[in-house]
Amino acid sequence: MTITHEALREAFRARGRQLWLVGGALRDRLLGIPSKDIDYATDALPDEIEEIARSLGAKVSTVGKRFGTIGVLVEDTWVEITTFRGDSYAGGSRWPEVTFGRTIEEDLARRDFTITAFAENAHTGEWLDLFGGEADLRAGIIRAVGDPATRFREDPLRILRGVRFVSQLGFRLDPATAAGMRETAHLIATLSQERVTAELDKLLQGRAPAAGLEALREVGALPHALPELAAMPGCEQNRFHRFDVWGHTLATVEAIAATPETLRLRRWAALLHDIGKPAVRHRKPNGEWGFYRHEVVGAELAAALLERLRLGRAESHVVVLLVRRHMDRPDPADRRAVRRFMAKLGGHWRDLLALKRADNASHTYDDTAYHDALEAACLRAEQEEAEAIRAESPLSGDELVRMFDRPPGPWVGVIKRQLGAMVLDGELAPGDKEAAARIARRLMGRD
Ligand code: ATP
Ligand code: MG
Repeated sequence: MTITHEALREAFRARGRQLWLVGGALRDRLLGIPSKDIDYATDALPDEIEEIARSLGAKVSTVGKRFGTIGVLVEDTWVEITTFRGDSYAGGSRWPEVTFGRTIEEDLARRDFTITAFAENAHTGEWLDLFGGEADLRAGIIRAVGDPATRFREDPLRILRGVRFVSQLGFRLDPATAAGMRETAHLIATLSQERVTAELDKLLQGRAPAAGLEALREVGALPHALPELAAMPGCEQNRFHRFDVWGHTLATVEAIAATPETLRLRRWAALLHDIGKPAVRHRKPNGEWGFYRHEVVGAELAAALLERLRLGRAESHVVVLLVRRHMDRPDPADRRAVRRFMAKLGGHWRDLLALKRADNASHTYDDTAYHDALEAACLRAEQEEAEAIRAESPLSGDELVRMFDRPPGPWVGVIKRQLGAMVLDGELAPGDKEAAARIARRLMGRD
């Protein structure tokens, strides 16, 4: 069953336990944006938190108990209630160790940034802002609580959280905080990959991703968090580019159009689309830079990077496909070329067009007319020729086996692929079994 915040507060009060609203929920409330998660801090120990929640008949989650956190279902959302933190972070460990504290003041001092280190007493409404977090929030500043380098050494993930907030909130780094990050950025290598990946993923989906990525580079964290991209800054290009590869990449990430559903995919594709450029760059006889087929090398580098990050198989596959195909330039008037283009993209031509348009945003020439024409051609093909683009052989493997009275083997795939390609090219009507059988007989030397 689900309980109310009122009932939860009452139960803690009845036990003489403190309950403070903390962290992101307060930050988001001050910013006037809806908050995904609600966190409470308390002087009750995890066992007691669990016991209080269960005594109310609430649904309880104990997956975070080891770290002092009990999840409770309150008004249909999961709320995290955490025992006050004390000091002692095992520096250099892959996962920070947890000790409990006695007071909310102690707890707040353990938090990483001033804008996440205020609290509101759930019983009395008392507002506690010991580090000037509210002022920083209004000024748009990410500032470490305490001595920055010390805090980043305790848990280097905070460096990535900080630059992630730059992107998510559109804030900037306080200079002393940035200096502390620079001093400790090499410690990012000691973190578990899943924690790093989660922060990078959030950074990339923020409202100011270019600022977040630039902050990552600025504090020297790029070679440690994304070494595969470290050669991009300073990699100069030709005159029709307005930026070096890094600047151009940031512009593309910022420019790419997306919906909430396509944001993750498209931002990653924008970040990685030119990853192959530094590796293949060479001087051409005319003195210009050459990047011959950088998208082929780029697709391989992107695949290896995404595998290392363990971003998720299905999405990684599409990102790699977009990197590989972003230089494709079919003639919109050539139906066959448009069909082939779409078939290669397996349903993601819209994502590719968004990438091409964003890519062009930082070129010195305007390719909009071409992109509009290609988009129109793809839309027409999708409506009128959807079946052809699926490139499906009109005859199934079983049908071919029966037709030729031959045991199944590699030959079946060869014939099916050939028939599919002919459907794609308009030489065979989709579903035309009779014509397909004639062609198959010819291919098998049986006519
Ligand atoms: P989001 O929910 O968007 O990831 P958040 O700041 O709310 O951001 P949580 O992981 O929900 O992050 O953590 C809740 C609070 O715990 C934070 O607001 C912060 O005060 C504190 N916190 C989280 N991670 C750390 C850390 N690595 N070091 C110190 N304090 C932290
Ligand atoms: Mg949170």
